[in-house]
Amino acid sequence: MIRPAQRMQSIPPYFFAELGRRIARLRAAGHDVIRMDMGSPDLPPPAHIVEALGRSAESPDHHGYAPFGGTESYRQAVADHYQRRFGVTLDPQREVLCLIGSKEGLFHLTQAFVDPGDVVLVPDPGYPVYETAARFAGGEVHFLPLLAENGFLPAWDRIPQGVLARTKLLWLNYPNNPTGAVADLDDFAAAIRLARQHGFLVGHDAPYTEVGFDGYRAPSALQVDGAREVLVEFNSLSKSHNMAGWRLGMALGNPTAIEALYTLKSQVDTSHFRAVMDAGEVALRSDQGWLEQRNAIYQARRDQVLAAIPHAGLAADPPKAALYVWASLPEGVASSLAFTDQMLEDIHVSVTPGVAFGAQGEGFVRLSLGTPTERVEQAMDRIADWRYGPAA
Ligand code: PMP
Repeated sequence: MIRPAQRMQSIPPYFFAELGRRIARLRAAGHDVIRMDMGSPDLPPPAHIVEALGRSAESPDHHGYAPFGGTESYRQAVADHYQRRFGVTLDPQREVLCLIGSKEGLFHLTQAFVDPGDVVLVPDPGYPVYETAARFAGGEVHFLPLLAENGFLPAWDRIPQGVLARTKLLWLNYPNNPTGAVADLDDFAAAIRLARQHGFLVGHDAPYTEVGFDGYRAPSALQVDGAREVLVEFNSLSKSHNMAGWRLGMALGNPTAIEALYTLKSQVDTSHFRAVMDAGEVALRSDQGWLEQRNAIYQARRDQVLAAIPHAGLAADPPKAALYVWASLPEGVASSLAFTDQMLEDIHVSVTPGVAFGAQGEGFVRLSLGTPTERVEQAMDRIADWRYGPAA
């Protein structure tokens, strides 16, 4: 009998992988499914970035292994970007690392720091990798409920002292997926104070800093004085520069965390394709003006969604940032999964049930704005004529 390791039992099927299969079946049966579930930007990066990829790939000596941790010039470009954008000064050698998308960094950081029995503080609802990675490491997960009445921020005074004493790692994510909530420097400072007091690491997962609406620009948690003594931030070109498929990310800040990630990753992967890093540099160093126009497109979609969803009984506040509308279910509807299932079956619009992000996500659904505008329009037309009902 061939059996995967015991720890594989801590890895549930990835929600979107399963959903993708179901949608493929519906499409094969001839249904026109509109996907507003996954947060994958539909728009391409501008031509000058794609051209930079091609130019670098044309160099015959760019096809071997690139340096572990990323090319020096990529790390420097990331540091310069953080200086320009956030006023944060980073040492590109000790405080910046290239990632193959930020997702692997979140997973690997956990493996590098969490021993069996250590507590990991995980926001609920939240990006599923924080919990899965913690369990894979044998850690104990303590959920931090993100509630609307608290601006979807953790209530620090509700964490038991006994839990804080055993905490090794805290995850934060602002602008937040799935709620669209934002945090300011005082919010980050509160988390950093707690981390210092109890001697744990903070992982700030920040891939949405460049997706803001109504003029909002998100800060970096590294702007807080002394943050890097306890905090490592993750960022990525996936959402910021419409490059999700390129798998290009970065870890920044705490040198011990960067060093441990480097050591672990040197056994797991062998850096990234140089052409991807070279084009990433161009993305970070060239004029960032196009991001504003891109965000205006997302904002128009957001407003379209906000106008249409009340017809289906959904209610949402306009998010200031990130790629999502987080909407509460109609009165009396208990199951987000039953709701999204029926929406998919009835009108072939796919949105994500809140419960896919944790128990506190129950009662909500998430609509992604990374869907072509004309498809958002069609989806909203369908939703406007649809009602959830168990008997329908
Ligand atoms: N963190 C959050 C909160 C995300 O929403 C995502 C992508 N959906 C990621 C991390 C991973 O992004 P990347 O493409 O950089 O791996």
